[in-house]
Amino acid sequence: MPEAISHMLEPHSALYLDTRPHVITEGSGIEVRDEDGQSFVDGVAGLWSVTLGYSEPRLVEAATRQMNKLPFYGSFNHRTNDVALALAADLVDIAPIPMGKVFFGNSGSDANDSAIKFARYYHWSQGRPERRKIISHSCGYHGTTLAAGSATGLPHIHHGFGLDTGDFLSAHCPNPLHPSSRGMSESEQVDWLMEDFENLIEEAGPETVAAFISEPILGAGGLIIPPAGYFARLQEILARHDILFIADEVITGYGRTGSMFATTEFGLSPDIITTAKGLSSSYLPISATLVGERVSAALAEGSKQIGTFGHGFTYSGHPVPAAVARETLAIVRERDIPGHVRDVAPHLARGLDKFRGSEAVRDVRGHGLLGGVEFDAAAVGREPGQLGQAVLRAAKERGLLLRAMGDTVVFAPPLIITGEQIDDLMERFTAAYHDVVDSPRL
Ligand code: PLP
Repeated sequence: MPEAISHMLEPHSALYLDTRPHVITEGSGIEVRDEDGQSFVDGVAGLWSVTLGYSEPRLVEAATRQMNKLPFYGSFNHRTNDVALALAADLVDIAPIPMGKVFFGNSGSDANDSAIKFARYYHWSQGRPERRKIISHSCGYHGTTLAAGSATGLPHIHHGFGLDTGDFLSAHCPNPLHPSSRGMSESEQVDWLMEDFENLIEEAGPETVAAFISEPILGAGGLIIPPAGYFARLQEILARHDILFIADEVITGYGRTGSMFATTEFGLSPDIITTAKGLSSSYLPISATLVGERVSAALAEGSKQIGTFGHGFTYSGHPVPAAVARETLAIVRERDIPGHVRDVAPHLARGLDKFRGSEAVRDVRGHGLLGGVEFDAAAVGREPGQLGQAVLRAAKERGLLLRAMGDTVVFAPPLIITGEQIDDLMERFTAAYHDVVDSPRL
């Protein structure tokens, strides 16, 4: 056995533990195997992201072909590589609303940082440099870099890091279970949320607000599905104040919800859409920030004043991840992955429905291949957060890897999962739940 210590500064982990982490060494289909040879169904597709599973040969071949042909060429001074250019055209082609340009980065965080900078640059180019503020949700997750982390609402992303909260405003979480809106109908809740949103803008001064950023379904904040009519009303307010709308489709893009983009399903008209994860099925890091026609025209106009658009990374449009992304999109379209998600999603919905009304369950929610079970730890005499972790441990014992946000356990399996495999996943989860709830020791 390797020594029981980790020399890695482990992302999103309790660093003080300093023990050897759970180490995954192989993957195939919807399963991964660890260094001890144990196999697990991956109920969260890595980090909501390995959409085509762990053994898609076409993605490996696309990477190898590109490595052999041109392993790298970056984008600068009006020079780029053929693959990045072709991928940008592919994305404009499938975008849910007319998009002018696509910017490439390496992660969801940098896609959101880029979107925030583009929103400010847009206003600056229109002679309104004072429009710098960004509104996001208190339960929104947009990444951990300086700007994306500032827009992320979850407190532990902020603690100790001195993020820039001055220019970032926090709107109420559109959570139907929000304690302040308990007992309200859906439309009353939307009214209440809109009042909060308007007040936030008025207090900040509309002339200082650049953009609002939101996930269509809020993932890491606990799988929150906003009430019906929420985004339609919100978009009216944004349009009235000339505030740009950034849709963070880092989780929802490329099939997860049963459409190529959740923007279409939720009737959104964002100015900018950020994507990553499923763009390459996470085989290689790449993000794409899709910039609407109005904003991209203004970016071009703005850069006229300076000469060069001052944003980009060495690896923007790296040809190898771009080739993998092109192949991923080809597969997603050829196999109609969004259609497959719609076909198998009822298996997940049925599995989740069985938890409604259970003793330790506060809520159950799902959409496409996203699901969440929110536990009520107090109902079974536990501290908040303990039940989610206990069920995760029990699920691991039963060969299933999941994630918990507090007491909400989330499901986001690879999109290639079959109906039977979802049934098996939910059986393992159900058994794990009973292992914990029926046994006070776990
Ligand atoms: N946006 C959303 C909605 C996410 O879920 C995530 C990551 O989980 C990010 C942005 C940040 O992406 P990354 O971790 O690739 O920086």
